[in-house]
Amino acid sequence: MLHYLFLAALGLIFGSFITMLSYRMVNGGGYGGHSKCIKCKHSLSTLDLVPLFSYIFLAGRCRYCKAGISPRYPLTELLTACAFAGLGGYWQDKFMLILLMIMTVALITMIVIDFEHMIIPDEIQLVLAIIGVIYAYYSKNPLMIVILKPLGLLLIALALKYAFLFFMKKDGLGLGDVKFFAVSGLYLNITALSAFFLLSGLIGLVIAIFWRYLKRGEQFPFGPALAFTLYLCVVFPSTEKITNFLN
Ligand SMILES: [Zn+2]
Repeated sequence: MLHYLFLAALGLIFGSFITMLSYRMVNGGGYGGHSKCIKCKHSLSTLDLVPLFSYIFLAGRCRYCKAGISPRYPLTELLTACAFAGLGGYWQDKFMLILLMIMTVALITMIVIDFEHMIIPDEIQLVLAIIGVIYAYYSKNPLMIVILKPLGLLLIALALKYAFLFFMKKDGLGLGDVKFFAVSGLYLNITALSAFFLLSGLIGLVIAIFWRYLKRGEQFPFGPALAFTLYLCVVFPSTEKITNFLN
């Protein structure tokens, strides 16, 4: 039980790291140096940077200039804490736990960046691909399957992309999404593929509805739906049972 709390606390720290990473990956500014308030540029002390708790105790305002702090910080930290706690079932297998932690950090960074900027950086896909190869090898997948699954998913995603363009006359699937499908092939069991498509489609639909409701524009980011579904299918293999009704 205690290890779930430990993982959640670790998730808060990594969540804080993700807010910094996702900001600097897109806006630049390097990865070293002290964090500053983006409004008043005051250097932030350790007390201002305690994940989640600083936001709560400062009531979402900068201690120095009282400017509102974006809820992206506590939301990302909370999401990462929950996602890390979800890895508790892998506590006995520390190597797998570490692989899944890196995967989770990469997926949440991707969710944040795609929501904020509608792109999936290649660096994140590369990290996911490298961890995916190690994951597939460690899960004792035969080499042929490790090669064929990403290739198969890449072809399906490309077919979907062009079917969208042809029939709907708009770009439903970005190139980043297409690449992500291929990378997902390294992690997903063949038996989980139907659940992956169904669930990511449904979550994508929910995001699309919210996007329209919030008036954020015609195009909505599909990456968060894909990343969240991949996490569910990999970390909780029973997720694939949601398509049992198809059999
Ligand atoms: Zn400030």
